[in-house]
Amino acid sequence: MALYDFSAPRLFVEPDLGPGAEIELDRAQANYLLNVLRLGPGKAVLAFNGRDGEWLMEIRSAGRKSASLVAGERTRPQPEPGNLAFLFAPLKHARLDYTVQKAVEMGVGRLQPTFTRRTVSSRVNAERMRANAIEAAEQCGILAVPEVAAEDDLEPVLRRLEPERVLVFCDEDAPLKNPLEALAALPPGTRLALLVGPEGGFAPEERAMLLARPNVLRISLGPRILRADTAAVAALAILQAAIGDWR
Ligand code: SAH
Repeated sequence: MALYDFSAPRLFVEPDLGPGAEIELDRAQANYLLNVLRLGPGKAVLAFNGRDGEWLMEIRSAGRKSASLVAGERTRPQPEPGNLAFLFAPLKHARLDYTVQKAVEMGVGRLQPTFTRRTVSSRVNAERMRANAIEAAEQCGILAVPEVAAEDDLEPVLRRLEPERVLVFCDEDAPLKNPLEALAALPPGTRLALLVGPEGGFAPEERAMLLARPNVLRISLGPRILRADTAAVAALAILQAAIGDWR
């Protein structure tokens, strides 16, 4: 049985959700429901805001360009936020959009754009990243929308990691060893951070600094060098397979 209902469209809203709550939609949301999905008054929509769980809503007072939703029952409680921190060198445009969406689908709890020596992007559009995170959550029924942290350089990002959090370092120069054994040996519930580098890989001094840290688990993703966006998905799949949230 599917965990949740995919028959009704899912929409992220900002306001609080509760019994009888009435939500005024913005123009883009109203246009999406009324003109793209061609839904009208009385039709069902599932709404979530990342705090109050998922609510079955009914479309009300739909003009051509405006609509509101009225809350009926709560269909799913708000789950705990994901615990996995994803540290990644921002890629350019479409590849960054892709990486953000896939990381959300794969259950990360925090997206941390991290500038390394060879990162090609000079800045990150936080609004665009958040919009991608929300779109992935809407499409995949994810209610705990990950935090999108402000971009920062590798060293301050590492300094802010909690000491007990294990840093899983995807190193293209790692010795060729299947990572599943080392990952599965981590105690259940270990707080993790995953680090994936840029198109140009890690600089030698970064690798030395990373390997000198306590609580670092250096892993190989196989005998081939993966593109950075491929590596992100591969690493997340391996992590979740080995010690993920299979509840
Ligand atoms: N030059 C290629 C990929 C560079 S490596 C490109 O054009 O994208 C990009 C990042 O992906 C690396 O820093 C590392 O974090 C990860 N990665 C890629 N292949 C890997 C492998 N075989 N093992 C471990 N990490 C890998």
